[in-house]
Amino acid sequence: MRALAKLAPAPGLEMIEAPVPEPGPTDVLIRVKRTSICGTDVHIHQWDSWAQQTIKPPMIIGHEFVGEVVAKGDQVVEVDVGDLVDGEGHITCGQCRNCHAGRRHLCNDTKGVGVNRDGAFADYLCIPATNVVKVDPDIPLDVLSCFDPLGNATHAALQWDLVGEDVLITGAGPIGCMAAAIARKSAARHVVITDVNPDRLAIADSMGAITTVDVRNASLADVQKSLGMKEGFDIGLEMSGNPVALRDMIANMAHGGRISLLGIMPGEAAIDWNKVVFNMLTLRGIYGREIYETWYKMTALIQAGLDISPVISHRLNCTDFAYGFELMASGKSGKIILDWEEGG
Ligand SMILES: [Zn+2]
Repeated sequence: MRALAKLAPAPGLEMIEAPVPEPGPTDVLIRVKRTSICGTDVHIHQWDSWAQQTIKPPMIIGHEFVGEVVAKGDQVVEVDVGDLVDGEGHITCGQCRNCHAGRRHLCNDTKGVGVNRDGAFADYLCIPATNVVKVDPDIPLDVLSCFDPLGNATHAALQWDLVGEDVLITGAGPIGCMAAAIARKSAARHVVITDVNPDRLAIADSMGAITTVDVRNASLADVQKSLGMKEGFDIGLEMSGNPVALRDMIANMAHGGRISLLGIMPGEAAIDWNKVVFNMLTLRGIYGREIYETWYKMTALIQAGLDISPVISHRLNCTDFAYGFELMASGKSGKIILDWEEGG
């Protein structure tokens, strides 16, 4: 089969010929139809310090996908051959206290598909049946291939009751834009999203009924004023990983404001803790998705009309992966879909 792999501890990726994996008794073999490129994949491609510490080549990368079950182990009852499926990319240990309590999303020893073990950028992927999610075949394949990051957005946004609240999202990357659409769909009052990249803000703008702010030439205090807001934002979704954006968010929250932190900060980003204390803010770290409550919620949101398609900027054949990674690194793209059906 074709597979996109990191072969050596150095920048780059190669399309290789690899053996089709053999499913064990509790595994599922999936024929991959579409994948989408994540920022994580770009880190692996570029071989930055995180990748150098985390990735052990040779390894097939990728974790955002949708495909069809083509074989399964004899103990698998959850899915059948022919089912259209996604996969939860965090394979949990099943042994820690949280796993035993049914809180798998809080597992302290997860293995990442396409990070710690062979991934989905291939014609076939083999993962445990416990990580396979049956999906609604009426949802477009391109959208289904983005369920992993849509899950991040959903998990971060739905930590809090959004109805009637003023929501600030820092970072208009694909996850920030999807979170904005979720906040809008969840009957938030004002939804404001910030960035310094006009291309990303243009995508956010096309999601509908969202206030976009280029913080290079407008302040959040002015934005609050122009929207008739008086006391600050009720909900913050930090999705930029930028300490300046986080500090700006904390300075613009209402008393009792609640913040989801999804963006990965460089090192030890400093904030004004007195604002957290005296303004009685709640900060919550968010990683991954809730297994499988988030999958249920995002499916229901899409079925109810949530439209994330403006975030998908490019659809490429998997053989054009190099161009896809180039686009991702340029910051001039939204989600990029790779098609594994054609020529496979
Ligand atoms: Zn565990």
